[in-house]
Amino acid sequence: MRVSRLPSWLKKDISRGKGLFKVKDTLSELGLNTVCQGAKCPNIGECFGEGVATFMIMGSICTRNCRFCAVEGGDPNPLELDEPVRIAQAAKILGLTYVVVTSVTRDDLPDGGAEHFSKTITAIRESLPYSKVEVLVPDFKGSHDAVWEVVKSSPTVFSHNMETVSRLYPRIRPGADYCRSLNVLEFVKDFDSKIVTKSGLMLGLGETREEVLSSMKDLRNVGCDVLTMGQYLRPSDYHFPEERFLHPEEFKELESIGKEMGFQEVASGPFVRSSYHAGRLLERILPRQEKDNGGR
Ligand code: SF4
Repeated sequence: MRVSRLPSWLKKDISRGKGLFKVKDTLSELGLNTVCQGAKCPNIGECFGEGVATFMIMGSICTRNCRFCAVEGGDPNPLELDEPVRIAQAAKILGLTYVVVTSVTRDDLPDGGAEHFSKTITAIRESLPYSKVEVLVPDFKGSHDAVWEVVKSSPTVFSHNMETVSRLYPRIRPGADYCRSLNVLEFVKDFDSKIVTKSGLMLGLGETREEVLSSMKDLRNVGCDVLTMGQYLRPSDYHFPEERFLHPEEFKELESIGKEMGFQEVASGPFVRSSYHAGRLLERILPRQEKDNGGR
């Protein structure tokens, strides 16, 4: 991130809270990856400082080459079968009550890594029975079986990011498909309507306001409960450039529009990322969900 050309609202203090070293040491000792590091997230000082991280399973090499993403592309390594248990150990050491797990895309695996996600959810629940688990999954090439494999482990939140509007998919996410991603979220509600679904959009990639509103409507039409929207910041000069920087007021307005559209929660702001304060965001809706679901 090149700080000098950023508008004032995108300059962030590097906070180093007391949790920073504990998170770093735990990750290093257990040989785990995070999307915070892999994607060069601008919130890393804040989140690690608060003792929070988003685990990235199935390695640090992705089989796709999205133009916005800092995660390295290429041929990934074989799955590490004890990784789910190590994730659970890390969550316990860090005292997490809300655990967010994502992954690289693994198109090389027959199930896209769905079973590995499922095992990770189970391992976390065995280690921390009262924890909430949010999974942020790839599109599994649209496989119903893979989505079901994850859903049957009952994550608290099933998240799949749209990332951008339909028109920009071929340029930004050449290996993905807008409708396929929407369908992934729709399948979840078909399989288990009680699971909270969530998605995220990056703004500033050249999308129009109408296109953003259209994507928001598409997400509501597949029953998506929670939406996050944040400013795209290219991780290096080799990545897709930002088209513009949205003012914080624009983010606020989109948040209001999203709530009017019927999302249960919307987080929208320059530094919002899918997993940013994810536990706090869900705290606002889980009491309502649990009441509706009879205490689950
Ligand atoms: S916002 Fe998410 S990805 Fe970024 S540092 Fe925080 S937990 Fe990690």
